[in-house]
Amino acid sequence: MKVSYDTLNKNLKVKSIMHIKQTEPKEKISFRFTSLARITDIQLSANDKNYPVSYKFNSYSIFIDIPAQFQEYKQLSLHIEYQIPIDMFSHNKIFSVSDVNMWCPFNYEDITTIKLDIETPLNYEAFSTGDLLFSTSDKNHSYYTWKNENINGYLLIISPKNSYSISKKMIDSKELEFYFVNHDTSITNNVMNEFCKSFHCFNTIICGYKDDKLRLYEIPDSGFYAMTSRKSIMVGSLMLAKKNRISYERSIKSIFKTFDKLKNKSIFPEIVNNSFNNDSADTNYIYTQNLSWISHEIAHLWGYYYYKFNTRLYKFVTEGLAEYIRWMYIESEYGKDSLNTYISDLKYLFSKNCINTIYDIPVSMAGPSDAIQYFKGPLIFHYVRKQIGKENFISFIRTLYNKYFRKAIDYDIFRMELSKYDKSGKVIKRMEEMTEMTGELPPDL
Ligand SMILES: [Zn+2]
Repeated sequence: MKVSYDTLNKNLKVKSIMHIKQTEPKEKISFRFTSLARITDIQLSANDKNYPVSYKFNSYSIFIDIPAQFQEYKQLSLHIEYQIPIDMFSHNKIFSVSDVNMWCPFNYEDITTIKLDIETPLNYEAFSTGDLLFSTSDKNHSYYTWKNENINGYLLIISPKNSYSISKKMIDSKELEFYFVNHDTSITNNVMNEFCKSFHCFNTIICGYKDDKLRLYEIPDSGFYAMTSRKSIMVGSLMLAKKNRISYERSIKSIFKTFDKLKNKSIFPEIVNNSFNNDSADTNYIYTQNLSWISHEIAHLWGYYYYKFNTRLYKFVTEGLAEYIRWMYIESEYGKDSLNTYISDLKYLFSKNCINTIYDIPVSMAGPSDAIQYFKGPLIFHYVRKQIGKENFISFIRTLYNKYFRKAIDYDIFRMELSKYDKSGKVIKRMEEMTEMTGELPPDL
C-alpha cells in the first residue's frame, strides 16, 4: 500500500493492492472500508490481466463483483486507488487514522499483513502499528515503510516532526515506548508508571510477553477511547485527564455511560462517596480506577485479541476476558478485598441501574450496552475462575496466548481449550447459560 500525504490538496492519496487467496469460487468479495473514500480506480487482476470491476458500499463494507472469468482463479489481486480528505481526521496538524475509521480496506475474518509505504513532506513523520522497516528522506520528502499485522485494520499517524515527545522504558527485557502530545509530566509520568506496572504484572502472573516492543500512542482529540493492536496501544487525549473527581467519575461513567444517558442525572455519588472515596479506601486503588483503561488495554495483549470478528460470543471473549484479566491485576496489586469491594460496588450499580431497562440484554448479544460486556462479561469469567480454580484459569489464558500466538481463532477453539479444565462440561454449560440471561444476577455469579 502506497500512501502519500498531500498537504496542499489536503488529502491522503492511497494506492492499495490486496492479494486475495480464493479457496472456492466466489461471485463477490467484501471488505470493511469507509464509504467516504473517493475511489478513482478499482481493478482486479489475475494472470497478468486487469479488469475494472463494479463495487458498492453498504454500511461499513465495500462489495466487489468478481467477473465470471476470474471466479476460478486461486490468486487474485485487487487494486484500489482512492483519496481521503484529511479534514475528516485531522487535529491541528497531526493527522491520524485508525481501524475505527476504516481508511484502508481490511478483512475482519483473518489476520492480514500489510506493507505500508508512506510519503510525507520533509518536515513530517509517519507512525503505524507493527515494525518500521525503513525510513529515508530526499530534498522534499520523507519516506517510511511499515510492516503491520492485524485483524481489525491499521493505525496511521502523520505528524509534523517533533510533535511527539518520546520516552522509553525497559521492563522485563521488553522495550516500552511512549508517544505523548501532552506535555504535562504529572500526567504522562503517571500513565507510564501504571503502564509499566500492569505490563510487569501480566508478565509475572500469566506469562512473558512474546513480542519485542510495545508502544503507546496518544491520538490528539480523537475522543474518549483506547484500543489495542499488536505491539501498539492508542489512546485519545481525553483519556489523559488529570487525577480529580471529574475524570474519575468520567472513567466510571464510561463503563456505565448508557445508564447515564437513560437517567439523565448522575448516578455516581453513591459509588464516589461510599467505598471509593471514604477514609478507609486505599488511595492507590482509587487512582487505579482513574487509569483503568491502561491495564484493560494491556490485558488485551494477553487476553487473546485475534478472535475472528464474526465469532459467536465475540464481545464476551474479547472485552469480557480482557476486562477480567484487568480485575486480576486489581487483585494482584491491591489484594483480594479490593477486588471483592469493586465487584460488589459494580453489582450494586448494575442492580440499581441496569436490570429491567432496555440495556438489560444478554451478554451473547452485547453490543450497544457497555455495562453488559465490561461488567457482566468479566463477572461470568470470575465465576468460571472460581469453579475451575485460579491456577487452571491462568493456565487456560496462558495456553491461548502461547499456542495461538498470531493465529486467528474462533469461539470453538476457545471453548475446546477451556473444556480441558472442565472435564464434566458443567462449568462451560453454566457459563454459556449465563451469557443468555437477563434480569437479576444469578446467586452463583
Ligand atoms: Zn477492550
